[in-house]
Amino acid sequence: MSFASLGLSLSILKAVEDKGYKTPSPIQAQAIPAVLQGKDVMAAAQTGTGKTAGFTLPLLQLLSKGPKVKGNQARALVLTPTRELAAQVGDSVKAYSEHLPLTSTVVYGGVKINPQMMRLRRGADVLVATPGRLLDLYNQRAVNFKQLEVLILDEADRMLDMGFIHDIRKIMALLPKQRQNLMFSATFSDDIRSLAKTIVRDPVEISV
Ligand code: AMP
Repeated sequence: MSFASLGLSLSILKAVEDKGYKTPSPIQAQAIPAVLQGKDVMAAAQTGTGKTAGFTLPLLQLLSKGPKVKGNQARALVLTPTRELAAQVGDSVKAYSEHLPLTSTVVYGGVKINPQMMRLRRGADVLVATPGRLLDLYNQRAVNFKQLEVLILDEADRMLDMGFIHDIRKIMALLPKQRQNLMFSATFSDDIRSLAKTIVRDPVEISV
């Protein structure tokens, strides 16, 4: 199994090579083709399985085909429970998009909001965010989701554990109905399954 056989483009393969990855991890082998086909995905995967590249690589490839981001829009939104994870995912997005004309930005709470507002004014193909700060930014009209194509919930179980369910529901209500949804969680508890029912449609289920 090679990354090339999963249908990834040369620019993405170059970034994978830069990173030194030789073969796709099991979650990558399953998630990459499904995401590239535009399907919703529900994946049970722990940290360390390569899940970040599993959703980021195909996401970047999809975004590289679509229209340019306008104004203060985001074309893909990655929600994470903590600022540490947001920063980590943001770094991965930057590294994997090195050879693509795509932009990304990361926003989280606990730091000044103004610099984040300034950055969002230019829009971002990929916006990585923690839920509370994202809602603050939306309420201040710093970001808009009319152009949103893909939603990713990373570590969804931790988001529920940390009490973000109301924020997540509020955010869902702001997004276009027509979109692709990817949900990653270490476990699939009943709570996660009932949340998933309201978010993903006919998902490809992956468990590693
Ligand atoms: P993640 O589970 O997404 O947090 O990734 C865990 C670690 O595995 C990160 O340091 C990645 O850089 C690394 N990684 C991801 N995919 C691969 C791969 N296919 N081969 C080798 N390392 C990888």
